[in-house]
Amino acid sequence: MPRLILMGPPGSGKGTQGEILADSWGVPRISPGDIFRAEIKQGTDLGQKVKAFSDSGILVPDEVVIEVIHHRLSQPDTKAGWILDGFPRTVPQAEALDLLLKSIQQNYDHVLNIDVPDVDLVDRLKIRAQQLGRTDDTEEVIKQRLEEYYAKTRPLLEFYGKHVTFIDGTPSMAEVTKHIQQKLELG
Ligand code: AMP
Repeated sequence: MPRLILMGPPGSGKGTQGEILADSWGVPRISPGDIFRAEIKQGTDLGQKVKAFSDSGILVPDEVVIEVIHHRLSQPDTKAGWILDGFPRTVPQAEALDLLLKSIQQNYDHVLNIDVPDVDLVDRLKIRAQQLGRTDDTEEVIKQRLEEYYAKTRPLLEFYGKHVTFIDGTPSMAEVTKHIQQKLELG
């Protein structure tokens, strides 16, 4: 029953690796970013609430994200395990996750951090903007998202401390997947 928290800056390949691992383990990949994009597209109340934040690269308020994750982790398909991709992104979210997991008598098995140098991230995000047409991949928004990451998300590495497994995200996609699988098996 793999329960994995996946961390890394925007553009680190975290989402792609999350999808590959979720497929190979047969567990859901839970990404608040994906949930928000779907809600925005459908024009729901939640979508309207988060659009301005997500469009400008600013983190959505903790209580909104926490509620979304709480709801998602209550679904039956998460019983077999899960990959949290993009949550938690702040210390209060990590604290809320600890409480939530305790309340449903679960724990995480691994915390993975995929790292890529800043200069490469910007290039990768620009390429993704062209490929996927994501509205939050403009240069200004990319800068904002990286600032949010370093200010609010990076401190989580200290929060999780010795539980974190570090992965170099610079090699090819297939190689990174291989490294992750090797490290998790050993861990
Ligand atoms: P992502 O697809 O993970 O890059 O997320 C896209 C956007 O959704 C982010 O720039 C934030 O505005 C919002 N978002 C995603 N996950 C979180 C989170 N855990 N906390 C706050 N905002 C989030």
